[in-house]
Amino acid sequence: MRLQGKVALITGAGSGIGRATALRFATEGAQIVAVDIAGAVNDTVAEVLAAGGDAIAVHADVSVESDIAAALGRAEEHYGGLDVAFNNAGIMLDDDTDAVATGDETIDRTFDVNVKGVLYGCKYAVEAMRRRGGGSIINTASFVASVGAATPQIAYTASKGAVLSLTRELAVVHARESIRVNALSPGPLRTELLMSFLDTPEKRQRRLVHVPMGRFGEAEEMASAALFLASDDASYMTGANLQVDGGLTAAYVTPE
Ligand code: NAD
Repeated sequence: MRLQGKVALITGAGSGIGRATALRFATEGAQIVAVDIAGAVNDTVAEVLAAGGDAIAVHADVSVESDIAAALGRAEEHYGGLDVAFNNAGIMLDDDTDAVATGDETIDRTFDVNVKGVLYGCKYAVEAMRRRGGGSIINTASFVASVGAATPQIAYTASKGAVLSLTRELAVVHARESIRVNALSPGPLRTELLMSFLDTPEKRQRRLVHVPMGRFGEAEEMASAALFLASDDASYMTGANLQVDGGLTAAYVTPE
């Protein structure tokens, strides 16, 4: 019960990493505010409740500041405060390719959700955590913030680099307020987001050759890492980028 008595807000909780983390945090004793733009967040909450946990669903678009403010408001109103904010919602658009071909609309929407969404999440979490006397913020970045890919998604990659840098700065600014801010950088995962994009065995193999462990990661493996960052086990950790990527960012030549 590493999150006993803690209130945790998770964005993108309707699917993939966010859903797995909501279920995991709840089994560790947290009260969950599950946030998503999609109706699937209701299913996540139903799963938490069925397992004996405590959760509420909030429908919100993280790129809209007033939605985030309202979501944080719900956390404080319903559970009396906020201890953990997992700013995890993110998008990767189909027509996001290289710098020459990627249009303005795609760049703007990607940055609105992946960067502004995380920044708004941090802004309102910091305010709520000040009222609480501290807390842990976790922002989902990606391995592509650290290594380039010849299969480009330039807007997505740039947005994840921004998540890393804003995480570092927030960590330093709020370190003496007992607010820790860390990034979680997943490797390529077997979630809806990536598998719908890598829809042929060839596309998947093109990526897997670069992963030393030779497999995609699982959402549950990210939930374990998020749990560590959320809990007091990570009490001396802030401004870090926790790379959970099967060895990808450490690799030059991978095993056959
Ligand atoms: P996913 O698509 O399974 O889940 C993302 C969730 O975010 C969905 O439920 C979606 O409805 C929600 N969402 C999208 N836009 C939103 C918005 N504007 N407001 C609120 N909710 C919104 O994806 P996932 O694989 O679980 O990805 C979660 C995070 O992990 C993302 O930030 C993604 O960039 C990052 N990531 C994923 C991978 C991967 O391989 N899957 C790798 C590295 C990083």
